[in-house]
Amino acid sequence: MSSSASTVIPAPVQPALPVAGTSQSFPVRRIWCVGRNYLEHIREMGNDERQPPFFFAKHADMIVQDGATIPYPSLTKDFQHEVELVVALKSGGANIATDKALDHVYGYAVGIDLTRRDLQMASRKKEQPWEIGKSFDASAPCGALHPASAIGHPAKGRIWLSVNGTQKQNGDLSEMIWNVAEIIAKLSQQVALGAGDIIMTGTPAGVGPLQSGDKIECGIDGIGTLKVAIG
Ligand code: MN
Repeated sequence: MSSSASTVIPAPVQPALPVAGTSQSFPVRRIWCVGRNYLEHIREMGNDERQPPFFFAKHADMIVQDGATIPYPSLTKDFQHEVELVVALKSGGANIATDKALDHVYGYAVGIDLTRRDLQMASRKKEQPWEIGKSFDASAPCGALHPASAIGHPAKGRIWLSVNGTQKQNGDLSEMIWNVAEIIAKLSQQVALGAGDIIMTGTPAGVGPLQSGDKIECGIDGIGTLKVAIG
């Protein structure tokens, strides 16, 4: 009954993001996130301003599409938003040079690095991994991708997030401590990057808690917007 090509369980659905202005989609392989990349956010979290950024990961099936309602997650009493520029790679490799890094970018989107802050802080104190605070179901809302062939490689532009119509986060891409090319170069020293990888590049100041029923809208000038609700 089975052949060598068959799988013993149904193959998981390939997570993907829509590409703006087309009927095509971008299959997502891995989700990487930058830990600290805007000075004002580092200060609001009370962290060392001179430390280089570091990376953590979410799983591709944690993506949430634009317009979706996200269940309030388990275990936390402090569920928080972090609006971020998302970079999507069309190719990759190890030890990518900074001056070649943008050649690997397919496009950009707006995303939210949803965080169970109380659990993240507890694991930080205990010097445990961040997974419980960062890597959970529906923790990676992401909007449509805008190809670099259409919008270029934005190095500045307002990045903002509002909850129920009240602005909570407001920054500019120009405030990123490590720019997109530097992030790709640095991360490619840690892992071999590949087509389908996306990177959430860190959040500006103004992170804060979310409640059931909240409506979140966020955006980056020149890249687009993303709306999700908390169920
Ligand atoms: Mn983040």
